[in-house]
Parts: sequence; structure tokens; C-alpha cells
Amino acid sequence: PWGFVSDSLFLNQALLVQTELEPMQLLDKCQYIESQLGRIRTLSNVQEKCYLSRTMDIDIIFYNSEIIETNRLQVPHPRMHLRNFVLRPLCDIIPDFVHPVFGKTVNQLFQQCDDASDTIKEPTIPLS
Ligand code: ADP
Ligand code: MG
Repeated sequence: PWGFVSDSLFLNQALLVQTELEPMQLLDKCQYIESQLGRIRTLSNVQEKCYLSRTMDIDIIFYNSEIIETNRLQVPHPRMHLRNFVLRPLCDIIPDFVHPVFGKTVNQLFQQCDDASDTIKEPTIPLS
């Protein structure tokens, strides 16, 4: 959890995606997928014939080097540079990508980030 206290752990993942979708179309698609994945049926839940409600959040961190400032969509994501849980997985895939506003690489942003919250690379407890 970032910015609040929670008993739950959160699993974060960064994906690099090639798409023909324009930024707004991509946001629509992300939100559609969020709605589809709002409830995840895990194997153990299937066996126990019950469902576990999970929250899914898909954010667009970068869209190439574009800068987008609309009510519905801001890219780069306006808080990505404050969050270890974003920066750390981003460092795994695009450490040298330059943030188009700050002019710093993802790796530099991670090194300079004041976020004190810890992240673990591999979950040590089952997340399902
Ligand atoms: P958060 O991701 O901040 O926890 P939500 O997922 O509920 O909150 O998103 C709230 C709104 O943020 C969305 O409806 C969307 O229009 C907007 N938004 C603005 N910029 C972005 C972005 N880069 N990626 C995803 N959503 C964004
Ligand atoms: Mg979101």
C-alpha cells in the first residue's frame, strides 16, 4: 500500500506494450480490462467454489515520449516519480528511458525517489 495503511499486499507489474491504439483508446481499453478483472477467480477459489474480490488498477505511465494533459488522461503519469512500486518494476524493463518532462532516466528517478516504502521483488507469501 502507498499513502495509506492496509493489511493487504499489492502486486505491481510493469508492462511494455506495442499498440496501434491512440492514447485515449488505450485508456478506454485499460479501463475495460480493469472492469473485466475486477473480480479474479483463482484456482483455490474455483476449488472452493467461491470468489475473491480483488481490485485491479491499470495506469498508463508513458506513451512513447508524449506529454498529454487532459482531464481524463495525464501522461506521463503525474505521480509515477514518487512511487517505488512504479519505478522499481519500470527499472527492470526500461531503466534508460528518459522521462519527457523531467529529462531524467527511469533509473535516475528511482535513485532519487524519496519514497520510503519498501518493495520486494518476489512475493514471499501467496497473493491468491
Ligand atoms: P488511481 O489510478 O489514481 O488509483 P483510478 O484508477 O480510479 O485511480 O483512476 C482515476 C482516473 O485517472 C481515471 O478515470 C482516468 O481518467 C484518470 N487518469 C489520468 N491519467 C491517467 C493515466 N496516466 N493512467 C490511467 N488513468 C489516468
Ligand atoms: Mg488507475
